[in-house]
Amino acid sequence: MPLVDLDRFDFLYASRVRGMKTAATRDLMATLSRPGIISLAGGFPDTRLFGEEAFREISRSIAANAAQALQYGPTGGLEAVKDVIVEVMAAEGTPADQESIFVTTGAQQGLDLVAKVFLDEGDGILCEGPTYAGALNAFAAYRPRIAHVPMDRAGMIPSAARETLKRARKQGLSVKFIYTVPNFHNPAGVTMAAERRRELLEIAEEFDLVIVEDNPYGMLRFEGEPLPTLCAIEQQEVGHPDRVVYLGTFSKIFAPGVRLGWVHAQPGILHKINVGKQGADLCSSNLSQMMLASYFKEADWRAYVRRQNSLYRERRDAMLDALAEFMPREVHWTHPEGGLFVWVTLPSYLDATAMLPRAIARNVAYVPGEGFYAGGAGKNHMRLNFSFVEPERISRGIEILAEVVRERMEL
Ligand code: PMP
Repeated sequence: MPLVDLDRFDFLYASRVRGMKTAATRDLMATLSRPGIISLAGGFPDTRLFGEEAFREISRSIAANAAQALQYGPTGGLEAVKDVIVEVMAAEGTPADQESIFVTTGAQQGLDLVAKVFLDEGDGILCEGPTYAGALNAFAAYRPRIAHVPMDRAGMIPSAARETLKRARKQGLSVKFIYTVPNFHNPAGVTMAAERRRELLEIAEEFDLVIVEDNPYGMLRFEGEPLPTLCAIEQQEVGHPDRVVYLGTFSKIFAPGVRLGWVHAQPGILHKINVGKQGADLCSSNLSQMMLASYFKEADWRAYVRRQNSLYRERRDAMLDALAEFMPREVHWTHPEGGLFVWVTLPSYLDATAMLPRAIARNVAYVPGEGFYAGGAGKNHMRLNFSFVEPERISRGIEILAEVVRERMEL
């Protein structure tokens, strides 16, 4: 094949794509499928757990409605799916009704639509530091200014958010929303304390902005008590959805392959989101939605979530044990009570991006921390995923990673 000139059409590209980069995890995909690699990199639930027979069952059940499954559907999603969403949100303690729900092609599309609806170029956004790399990707297309708010073990620090907003106000910057992943944060693995959730809502009121609550992992809790979503707290206090735009997904409680998620918000916002989605993909797949509705109606989905959680808990424990056993004393990490990720902090002089080729050469992959910040911070961090690999291999992977870290420390 002749050499391809990737810059060939640079003079034609929109200025917005200059600031966009591909997510490190997406780029790693090819490497991750290499045989023998221990991948602590992806954010994959273990779909092997689902099983062929259960899948065949759902496929069979929708065959009778083939014509509908193969047809376009309403932009906001099928009623049957909205019913499922009401049930799932209730199971997490969040009251919801059909009118406040809008089906999307994964929470990822929710992020894109929220950005499309709220952001003009140069508008401000607050998000956690670090934050979900896919959100940064989605937001980047709309060219906002992104401020990272520091976190500790109890999540985003509200006083720091308030300070940042005051500064932005002084500079005349229009901040549109605060983006947060309150439960089992990706990548940080921490959960926002209940009183901080309340404080964040107060801050949104004070500065008159919206909160985008992204909650893909809330139901993947292995220990501790569930905390109310910001969406639930708001509804308890105000009586209806208002400032909180809640993003949910079926990727972690069912399957990412169906590409289905949702937005729960007040009607004005949903109306704009509807217009945005019409321009993006008309509607989410009817086929996926019907499979999903059939599964949630017929199967014991709660039992499946419980099975996943016990598997992930075992794997998380294997990871935490191995980190404690093998990592040098100077290395620190978070202790997630659920979700898929552990966030590792290396000594500040180490660069996890530069270290990655060495780890991959030894057949272990992780995601370097840099991609989780808009402005190049995070170099001395790694995100480790524990949901996809068996405990023994996690342990071996961490042992190798610890050797790579030690080699670097001795340089
Ligand atoms: N938000 C967060 C925090 C995520 O971690 C992910 C995916 N891992 C998404 C949104 C997107 O999920 P999906 O599009 O599969 O629903």
